[in-house]
Amino acid sequence: MSRIFQSHWWAVFFIFFFPLVVTYSYVEFVRGSELNARLGWLLMIGGLAYLFRHTVLQKFLLFVMSLMALSGAFDILYAVTFGGVFTSATFEAMVLTDTHEALEFLVAYASVENVLLLAFYLTVVYFSLRKLTFRAIERRREKVVAFLGVLMVVVAIQQIVQRDRTFDTIPGFAGVGIDYFNNRDSLEEVIQARQRLYENKVFTATKNSELPQTYVVVIGESMNRNHLGLYGYSRNTTPNLQRYSDQLLKFDNVVSAFAQTRPSLSVSLTEASLRNGMREQEAISLLGAVKKAGFKTWWISNQQPLRVPTSAIASLADESHFISHDFHGVEDHRYDGYLLPYVKRALQDSATHKVIFVHLMGSHLQYRNRYPPEFSVFNNADGARGYREELSDTELQYINEYDNSVRYTDFVLGEILAQLQSHSEAAALSFFADHGEEVYDSKDFKGHGPDGVTKNMLEIPFVLWRNAAYQSAFEVFDRRLGSRLQQPFMLDDYFHFGLCFMQVESSLNRPVHSLCSAEYQPSPRVIYGKDYDKGLQ
Ligand SMILES: [Zn+2]
Repeated sequence: MSRIFQSHWWAVFFIFFFPLVVTYSYVEFVRGSELNARLGWLLMIGGLAYLFRHTVLQKFLLFVMSLMALSGAFDILYAVTFGGVFTSATFEAMVLTDTHEALEFLVAYASVENVLLLAFYLTVVYFSLRKLTFRAIERRREKVVAFLGVLMVVVAIQQIVQRDRTFDTIPGFAGVGIDYFNNRDSLEEVIQARQRLYENKVFTATKNSELPQTYVVVIGESMNRNHLGLYGYSRNTTPNLQRYSDQLLKFDNVVSAFAQTRPSLSVSLTEASLRNGMREQEAISLLGAVKKAGFKTWWISNQQPLRVPTSAIASLADESHFISHDFHGVEDHRYDGYLLPYVKRALQDSATHKVIFVHLMGSHLQYRNRYPPEFSVFNNADGARGYREELSDTELQYINEYDNSVRYTDFVLGEILAQLQSHSEAAALSFFADHGEEVYDSKDFKGHGPDGVTKNMLEIPFVLWRNAAYQSAFEVFDRRLGSRLQQPFMLDDYFHFGLCFMQVESSLNRPVHSLCSAEYQPSPRVIYGKDYDKGLQ
């Protein structure tokens, strides 16, 4: 027995797998790469231990194991305290916290449970490492393992250096931390490049009217329009939008250019499009263009603060706020409703020309974490539709949770519209989602992505609300827009649509690609090499 505990295998196994067991017990969603990465490290350190005969090398191995144990201690602490795993947003929050706050935080969250688990883990690690003996290769089996250990080093280097997958290769806290600091540097470069582009690129953008105007652009997340009551879904998921239907233009034939956030927003929030093939770094953003036209701009977001392209675009805004900074890394209950006070404050700002971008978390990934429990409206099979007649309980549950998240987004939109209602000057709100989501609609799958893309991952809501003052100030334009509701449109031309409805003249505007202009011509909608208009599943 004591031989097992003296073996380096025991120490390596315990260091990597005890935190994983704790994580699985306390956290609902753990990425599959956590297990794979730990298995890889078990083999790597376990194998290398046979080859490292020199004391310096052995000390190095012990040092790496101690660091990984420290990382594991953070994983345990976080999982037990918050029921979550570390993310880049948690790191961002930690970096922004000063020592005093951090101490206060630790004291506030210390519990018998997490202190005991942590003490147990660190004690076992300490004695295991102290007792550890390095043995030379004796058997053939050990030779094979040593070889696999070396192979794992090669795989890890390849994953990190060539594929930039630090996050997936180094488990837990350590991987996220290293990834965070790497990305922060490259993100800083992207932000600076966008600011240089804005200052140096020659383009014009002017307001078409000196009338006071307020515009809100709400960017939804993973919203399949076929789940909106407004678009004919069998469940009443959009009572608030429907309440405003007489001031709402509902576009029926809009798709996203991608089924993922980053590429979709790169082309919809900048002048880049699938057609012009511009690189994101060379493309002026819609926010940049309206800012140049003299609008005061806001970026208010419930999404991660360290993301391309949104962080760089947000950096140009006159005022920006990511609500994740208000939270101490608790990811689960950060509802979009927390954005509302910030939107209200922006709407009350004294500037005469305002554009407020609002980036929602919408229906991202874990649907049930996107709305407060009291918004759990759909709980049975009534009105649920799916790819087959008899849906399983699990499928039904996901559909219900998804519909509840849609219903909550509708609530948030209703609250913003209610605030806008009291504005007497011309005001409009544009809402779309970055892409759709398959929720067992046309196949046995939930999610979105480039592989096996379905029409539900692309078909998005696209509406424009405008008040009476807007409709009368821009009457001809508004009437024309109202005649375009069935026109085919792809989100990569949103830049032109945005300039158009916000009444901005710009040398970057291409009327032929702008849904609101008299010259609009639909472009082919080829997404991931498939022609949407020729039919997708
Ligand atoms: Zn998305």
